[in-house]
Amino acid sequence: MVTTAPETAAEPGWLDPFLADWRPGTGEAREIREPATGRPLLTLNESTPDDVARAAATAKAAQPAWADTSYDERAAILRRAAEIYAAHRPELGTWTQRETGAVHSKMHHEANFAAGELNAAATMPFQPYGQLVPSVVPGRLSMLRRVPAGVIGAITPWNSPSVLGMRVVAPALALGNAVILKPDPQTPVCGGAMFEAVFREAGLPEGVLHVVLGGAETGEAIVTDPNVNRVSFTGSTAAGRRVGMLAGQLLKRSSLELGGNNAFVVLDDADLEAAASAGAFATFQFQGQVCFATGRHIVHRSVAADYIDLLAEKAQRLRTGDPYREEVDLGPIVNQKQLERVDGIVRRSVDAGAKVVVGGTHEGLFYRPTVLTDVTTDQAAWREEIFGPVAPVVVFDTDDEALALANDSEYGLTGAVYSRSISRGLAVAQRIRSGMVHVNDQTVNDEATIPFGGMGASGTARYGGPANWDEFTEWQWVTVRDDARSYPYPY
Ligand code: NAD
Repeated sequence: MVTTAPETAAEPGWLDPFLADWRPGTGEAREIREPATGRPLLTLNESTPDDVARAAATAKAAQPAWADTSYDERAAILRRAAEIYAAHRPELGTWTQRETGAVHSKMHHEANFAAGELNAAATMPFQPYGQLVPSVVPGRLSMLRRVPAGVIGAITPWNSPSVLGMRVVAPALALGNAVILKPDPQTPVCGGAMFEAVFREAGLPEGVLHVVLGGAETGEAIVTDPNVNRVSFTGSTAAGRRVGMLAGQLLKRSSLELGGNNAFVVLDDADLEAAASAGAFATFQFQGQVCFATGRHIVHRSVAADYIDLLAEKAQRLRTGDPYREEVDLGPIVNQKQLERVDGIVRRSVDAGAKVVVGGTHEGLFYRPTVLTDVTTDQAAWREEIFGPVAPVVVFDTDDEALALANDSEYGLTGAVYSRSISRGLAVAQRIRSGMVHVNDQTVNDEATIPFGGMGASGTARYGGPANWDEFTEWQWVTVRDDARSYPYPY
């Protein structure tokens, strides 16, 4: 059963007929509410473990023929999907906005980046898929082949459903895999239905892509299903540990893209206005609800007061409200549980001595952009991934101290250093233990051409660019010889 909210039903959209017939699950009905208003958006049935098993078996059966489909046909389907996606960007963006509370810039980023992932993946089928390597055996042709991993289980979070889904689905399909995609329960449309609708219209053969709905139980059914060969998980570190453990027990490879608590270092010679605007963007955009948001501002003592003033002034100017109905800079926190987490971290840090410069309050799910000073490294605001619009600031005196602070985290996703000296900035940046790092740019950066991912508690995966070959294929060594080789055995 699907009921779209009255406001969207007034103008039937491209996705509406698809949604009217969409039955991804036969389990319990779940109502999805719009974070900004609390109003119901739609109701869908979740998938049962049997639904997951059926999807996985169908995917396994469909995968070999898809892998045998010619490279130009696979590429053409991905290009068509990119065109369809681009053509319906406003409607798909609206769903993103209403399901997640994304502001306009975030909604456009989601749509553009997802289309970019499709275009980048469409080039993959044309690339060489192996190597000829020398052999010690005379007359032996020795080949290394990349073969599809098989069926990929993709589990994604609510915060960037189109991008984080597409960066797995598009390259996995491009390289001949089948995919079972499970979006977060909060984002069944922009994280799930949209994928099925777009690829169906693009001509993807039936059975190659499945969307299943549900929470942790459905996710675990995917991870443990014998027909699912690999798991691509994006989400919290706690859930990622569980997924990694379940997959490991079954000797299944899992790629884990997890949380972050990213350092933003401002050296004493930084362009302070540029640094403060970048730091504000990196912490406050999309309410701080992205894994590569800046979680820790590490600022040289000599410029700290000015930096804090600039950051606080920017935080105060940001407008908070319902992004679907008004022009705002920050929307709602996704749900009450997350809001309580964010507020709890602020409260516990204040109790431990941190000072609120601006913000620290909320109205309903709308949390005001917050700047905290007097933060120490034992406080929750420093140690935990906040996933909210909160900027803790810590000061340092030497570059070595800045580096020690930057590396004082179990996470290692991304980092940033601001300095007018490229060599000094680079010297600090290269010693930050993270999968990505930027000099004179902030932490929220991604491109379809780069291997996105982190170290430590930020996970094990790398998505994008050349890394996609490792994520979605297996190596196979193949040898051929003309004369049948005999062995003088027993000697
Ligand atoms: P979450 O871990 O609660 O949920 C993510 C997905 O995993 C959802 O689809 C959920 O239903 C599913 N899931 C939950 N428990 C599961 C289990 N035991 N087995 C299988 N699936 C399970 O995460 P969230 O709170 O929705 O998302 C926010 C988190 O995701 C943050 O920590 C953020 O940093 C992280 N994230 C990381 C990246 C990255 O690329 N590194 C990108 C975006 C978000």
